[in-house]
Amino acid sequence: MTGLTGAILYRGPSELDGKPIVVIATGLGRSSRNEKTGDMVQTWIMRDDVDPWDAVKSGQDASVCGDCPHRGTSCYVKVFQAPKSVWKAAQRGAYPLVSDAAALTALGRGRAVRLGSYGDPAAVPAHIWGALVAEASAWTGYTHQWRTASHLQPLVMASVDTPEEKAAADREGWRTFRVRLAGEPVDARREFICPASKEAGYRTDCASCRACMGTSAKAKASPVIIAHGATARRFALYRNGEAMPAAA
Ligand code: SF4
Repeated sequence: MTGLTGAILYRGPSELDGKPIVVIATGLGRSSRNEKTGDMVQTWIMRDDVDPWDAVKSGQDASVCGDCPHRGTSCYVKVFQAPKSVWKAAQRGAYPLVSDAAALTALGRGRAVRLGSYGDPAAVPAHIWGALVAEASAWTGYTHQWRTASHLQPLVMASVDTPEEKAAADREGWRTFRVRLAGEPVDARREFICPASKEAGYRTDCASCRACMGTSAKAKASPVIIAHGATARRFALYRNGEAMPAAA
């Protein structure tokens, strides 16, 4: 598989609603850089038959994001940028389909992998992720579908937006990734501040930290981060229960 920069990992029905989805890996040639995540293979989970930005606007993104409360409003992913261009490249036939387990494992071997740079990993059959990370050096993954996707606990973190959601996910056996408002307390017994965050001084990146690997991680406590970037204001509106304009 050397020389590949991108590949299709899965083409088939969504685990969430049965509609056609596609999962594409990029950065296989070690070209992806992201300040927070470091050098990671990126994976993009999108409707196969609908432009991802159109899917956000029509609500068809439910096939890949389920009932995540941030879709179309306070989501931090600029869906009309990277996801859209990766989707268009896939539709042009730019990426080969890599579907058998051994080949998926070879793609992830020795690499750090991000499960769902866009889209929820719970939309994808778990065996795809299991094969991809079988010999990876690290991975990160987050799901807002934690109430219904407990089979993913060894692979991904439950995304939680309130202390109450954190407590509920804890009770169901999840490790969590909690977004908080500035000034909201951290539970020092069960939580730590994400070391790639501004509030931690950008001490490391995900490829080195390795804390967001679900229950497979060595870390037992769970990370928290202050809502940041362009969507911080929208997160605050969401937490306050105020109406949000649709994402532009
Ligand atoms: S806790 Fe570690 S792995 Fe998780 S987001 Fe922060 S730096 Fe990345």
